[in-house]
Amino acid sequence: MRHLRQLGDQFSISIPPDVNGYVGRECPECEQYFKITLGTGLTGTDLPCHCPYCGHSAAQNQFFTKAQIEYARSVVMNKVTGAIIKDLKTLEFNHRPRGAFGIGISMTVEGRPQPIRHYSEMELEEQVVCDRCTLRYTVFGTFAFCPDCGKHNSLQILEKNLALAQKQIELAATVDGDLSAQLIADALENGVSAFDGFAREACRVHASKAANSSKAEAVSFQNLAGAQKNVQSLFGFDLSAGLLADEWLSLTRCFQKRHLLAHNMGIVDEEYLRKTNDPQARVGRKITILAEEVQAMLGQTKRLGEFLASCLQGLA
Ligand SMILES: [Zn+2]
Ligand SMILES: [Zn+2]
Repeated sequence: MRHLRQLGDQFSISIPPDVNGYVGRECPECEQYFKITLGTGLTGTDLPCHCPYCGHSAAQNQFFTKAQIEYARSVVMNKVTGAIIKDLKTLEFNHRPRGAFGIGISMTVEGRPQPIRHYSEMELEEQVVCDRCTLRYTVFGTFAFCPDCGKHNSLQILEKNLALAQKQIELAATVDGDLSAQLIADALENGVSAFDGFAREACRVHASKAANSSKAEAVSFQNLAGAQKNVQSLFGFDLSAGLLADEWLSLTRCFQKRHLLAHNMGIVDEEYLRKTNDPQARVGRKITILAEEVQAMLGQTKRLGEFLASCLQGLA
């Protein structure tokens, strides 16, 4: 049993990263899959891992994927069965028959070590570098808690999307006519969508801690005046306090312009005039959207996002 004994009673098996350097992980609580890059993020021993989806936190060794566990088991079984086969081979014998009535006896050992069950990691949708601890990780969907430091990425995703809208504005300056106008209008719509997605998620994460999640999830941030009322009644602070009064007014107007683009082919209606008091708009005419206006709007949206995040954090 020499070979088997040499294996000892402990195995250390390394889990190889994928071609992009990510190692798969699976939450023991919600069983959802994500990937991290070892060697980025926090340093230290015995740091817990946070599930990016449900926020569950536990020791790192609780987050192996089923495929990794199967792989590790198969590596062990491969070594053990390989050693057993080698040991049995040392017992092989072959006694030839002797004399007229002799019977020959032999034993040969057949068989191969159990095969290793290789696996490949899945492709995910959003790649994030945490802006607090620099961990590189990737998840399904967009929003996530950082697996290392636990910070939620909603503000980071807002900034990323606003930066994309900003690039559309810059691109608009390089083309002419209808395409330029379309890019500017898209940038406005994208800015509003980015804020709406961010703010809903920020409220949902906050409310899931405070146990009033279903109401908070229903808040829409596409209409700022409505959102202001809901935020006031749900969380008790004034959203408009994040900006100067005239900034709030022009941001509200931009958000209402998105409503016209999305629902009325960009044509001014009575409702728009009532909600914005826009002195330049005429019912039945196309709404004007200027590049400088959208650029200012993207900056104000970013600051409003930071304000909302810090207010929610202050409540927690
Ligand atoms: Zn989870
Ligand atoms: Zn982090």
